[in-house]
Amino acid sequence: MRNQSFQNMLPPRVDKRDKLPEEPHTSKTVNKPIEACEGYSCSSNSSGSSNLEIVHKNKEKNKGMSKSSKLMRFKADDWVFTQVTAITSAKKTKDGKVSQNSFQYVNTNGIAISNEDLLKYYKSFIGSHNYKDHEQEVSKSYGVVLDAVIRPVNKTGDTVYYVDLLIATNRHKDPAWARAIETQKVKYVSMGADSSSIQCSKCGNIAVKDTDICEHLLFETGLFYIDKDGNKQITSGWISDKKSDYSIGSIEFEEISYLTVSPAYRASALSYVIPVPKN
Ligand SMILES: [Zn+2]
Repeated sequence: MRNQSFQNMLPPRVDKRDKLPEEPHTSKTVNKPIEACEGYSCSSNSSGSSNLEIVHKNKEKNKGMSKSSKLMRFKADDWVFTQVTAITSAKKTKDGKVSQNSFQYVNTNGIAISNEDLLKYYKSFIGSHNYKDHEQEVSKSYGVVLDAVIRPVNKTGDTVYYVDLLIATNRHKDPAWARAIETQKVKYVSMGADSSSIQCSKCGNIAVKDTDICEHLLFETGLFYIDKDGNKQITSGWISDKKSDYSIGSIEFEEISYLTVSPAYRASALSYVIPVPKN
């Protein structure tokens, strides 16, 4: 659905699932986003590692930008660099259900994204804003997502994917807030996305606007039920790129927020503050 953030799409539910994804991070992965970025060309500058030099290479996002504006330098004096896990996918079965081994990867608000769609769209995180508590106004942006990488995780028997982001948060816009992030007093992130639709995992209904949402997603999201074959299922809304005529639209990850409240996806936690030496 357009113009609605991921976490505001449906009313929050009390989470009844007891098993959460394990925090998968180690310090060994911390430099990987910088080395692996494809939307940007990233490197340390010639004087050492105190700056990150970012050149935006995405043709779409370069439209309307002057040549000079494509080059941005992020100095450690001005920015806090953090790595976070923003989202994980779930395995979608052939009949549109959430696989039983993926129940734990449905967000606490009942929303999920399939492996296929996350692999297809995760790079849209790159260049998106870093907000506080989803205050989605550009004037309230505290920073930018410099890179996004995806990695497979298989802890349940089904492979799913985690997306890690490299975020630069400005130190000067709100020094106390930046300091809270740097000292990890702020622990959680949550992302915002726009999608062409939400598809019900129980009945397959595609909702392109609020009034199209089926009764299952209105009243049963995140709840379990037993299907006609006696199998336990979960009612979830897949964020989807399908339009009402089943043609392909889009999913756009628009922002990542640091939160002063608990996130929809509880494994979304600040994982690592990247220690870039200052000049
Ligand atoms: Zn439904």
